[in-house]
Amino acid sequence: MKPVGPIPAGFAGQSRLTVGGVDFAKLLERAGDTPAFLYDGSAMAVRVARLRAALPPQVRVHYAIKANPYPPLLSAMAGLVDGLDVASGGELAMALTVKPAAAISFAGPGKRDDELSAAITAGATLHVESEGEADRALAIGDRLGLIPSIAVRVNPDFELRGSGMRMGGRASPFGIDAVRVPALVRRLVATGADWHGFHIFAGSQTLDSAAIIDAQAATLALAGRLAEEAGAVPAFVNLGGGFGIPYFAGDAAVDVERIGQALGEALDRRGAVLADTGFAVELGRWLVGEAGVYCTRVIDVKESGGETFVVVDGGLHHQLAASGNFGTVVRRNYPVAVAERMDGAPAMTASVVGCLCTPLDRLADRVVLPEVAVGDTIVLFQAGAYGATASPAAFLGHPPAREVFVAASE
Ligand SMILES: *Cc1c(COP(=O)(O)O)cnc(C)c1O
Repeated sequence: MKPVGPIPAGFAGQSRLTVGGVDFAKLLERAGDTPAFLYDGSAMAVRVARLRAALPPQVRVHYAIKANPYPPLLSAMAGLVDGLDVASGGELAMALTVKPAAAISFAGPGKRDDELSAAITAGATLHVESEGEADRALAIGDRLGLIPSIAVRVNPDFELRGSGMRMGGRASPFGIDAVRVPALVRRLVATGADWHGFHIFAGSQTLDSAAIIDAQAATLALAGRLAEEAGAVPAFVNLGGGFGIPYFAGDAAVDVERIGQALGEALDRRGAVLADTGFAVELGRWLVGEAGVYCTRVIDVKESGGETFVVVDGGLHHQLAASGNFGTVVRRNYPVAVAERMDGAPAMTASVVGCLCTPLDRLADRVVLPEVAVGDTIVLFQAGAYGATASPAAFLGHPPAREVFVAASE
């Protein structure tokens, strides 16, 4: 028997799964079939409100749409947050349907000329990841007769401790090494570009609140130092994010109230060069991850070698992360339950395996479940971020997952 992660507060204690107050079976009917992701819009609204209450009032909240760009969800999130962060021309096009260009920033290495051009034409802010990219953006701006809005993404000289995905403190495809940033800023200002400020993203998915507090303080200090060295006042500093959510046994949630308090104190101490600067945090996973579940139907229950396998119609092609194949070193179990009997008495130890013909497709490894029968619905929690669009949907030719967004007003 292997441990599982904690069922998120919004779902814990239910006897039958409901999402946004609606019974899952109704939502699966709305989806038309399993497998399906179900998203709770009111849980997302509560999350944003809690973050806003915790953060100092001058800090804006941005949503990194790669976490979940499902159009109805994106549209609802756009109404809740101040800005959208995108990382491709495709995401830019989606963001522009729900938010004005001035509230959209475009980061990511390897932006093609047509992507730079689309951003400059629309008036979104480019977060340049290299001097070469800055030069291409300036040349494209010239050609278009437009002044590009450019922020410099900094590869910080520190990293976010405890981060699932470190993005600073070492050689990196992301951002420009901090020591080279002042020279680029001076050049951007001299060329007449609309220099927007800095983007400093130190890492992702940490549950260590103290590490986030330290990274935010270090980010503010670095932004102040770079601005002074460049001799220019940044209009805006994007402080990154990195807030994780608890996926596994023993994980505990980040303390956003403590982080907000500490950020307020760090802002009070910030250098004079940042006195009139605006700030934002950019979050994906923390805003939407807990508000989504993945439901998949039991196709078969079989025994082999003394173990029980619950075979479902979904798999890693929709929810790669739950199989342990998306940025984790050791495979551990996401929270899992039987949707019809969330409070069912433990009756069996079984592995939940997907329908793909590969041993990698294991959604839960030797977990304790209530009695499971063919036709039951297995629910995997913490599925609102990096699910449908972060999984290899075309692998093995099964249909894509369906998605249902339950609006906060329902
Ligand atoms: C992916 C990404 C985010 C969002 O990260 P989460 O862990 O989902 O909060 C924010 N900023 C940048 C630059 C990213 O690449």
